Amino acid sequence: MPRRPVSSLARGIHHALLCAALTACASNRPPDLRQAVDTAWGTVRAARRDDAVEIALVVERVAPRVAAAIPSRGTAALDIRLVPELARAHWGGATITTAEERWIELPEDGRDIAAQAILAHELVHFWLAGEWKALPPVLEEGLAIHVAHLAVPQAAPRERGELALVLGTLLDGSVTFDGPGVAHGPAGAKLTPDRARYTMHARIDAGELPPLGDIFNLEADELARSSAPGVRAVLDALAYVVMERIGVEKLHRLCVQAGVLGHARIPSEWIWTAARIDPNEPVSLQRAVLEMLGTPEIRALLLRDDLRIGAHGDDSP
Ligand SMILES: [Zn+2]
Repeated sequence: MPRRPVSSLARGIHHALLCAALTACASNRPPDLRQAVDTAWGTVRAARRDDAVEIALVVERVAPRVAAAIPSRGTAALDIRLVPELARAHWGGATITTAEERWIELPEDGRDIAAQAILAHELVHFWLAGEWKALPPVLEEGLAIHVAHLAVPQAAPRERGELALVLGTLLDGSVTFDGPGVAHGPAGAKLTPDRARYTMHARIDAGELPPLGDIFNLEADELARSSAPGVRAVLDALAYVVMERIGVEKLHRLCVQAGVLGHARIPSEWIWTAARIDPNEPVSLQRAVLEMLGTPEIRALLLRDDLRIGAHGDDSP
């Protein structure tokens, strides 16, 4: 008999790439930082030179991959500022646009794979301009996540797993899958040859979610200022699935067509049709959740250090 543990993630899902792409008033200025390191793609600034040098090396590696993935990207030189803390504690990074300037803020201590994926994600926000202006902000997040996974593939399984968990929780209250056993030792979690069936859920507050059919009408500032990270995670997950189904090239074509026809944004119905999803009929989304939960995603979810496995019915944190 397989074990049937009920599992939950103690910290909930404020998934790793949660970020803000916001338009600030013109009086906002980029933070003043003394050390500047130039790369082929633009400048990285920080309080400490070592931080700027290390992130400049990551930029040299990641930026070409992001640039290659975005047709008709903007060509402005990058302006990356490494700061002690971002405006909101749950942001992983931010791309800020005023009438005169655009810059990226990232935590000065970010070095791991997740931080590299956040950098890739912010580069997408920074470089979307011109023909991309008809892209709805929610879908821009999906595009940024998608391209970050191309640029930093090691970060993808855990995040795809989390996005699938968030979406599955929205649709069905939880996600059930089979996977290896998990043993917790002094060195952290490790997978075992056993097989087990897991039922997992993310903590989300779907009550604050706008109706599915309206999500592509949300403006960037509404999105960035959302006080409910669970809602943002759901929107990111939906946008990611829609984005994966449309693909970058076709999404770009939809932006161009919307511009030609005088639409400020791609009309929502074009997006749902292109993704072959009916927002009133979530069966197609349920299928997408299962497709996202492959072996690498399941292993990454099970190795989260805040995973709690309890007896059936005991899923208290
Ligand atoms: Zn973003």
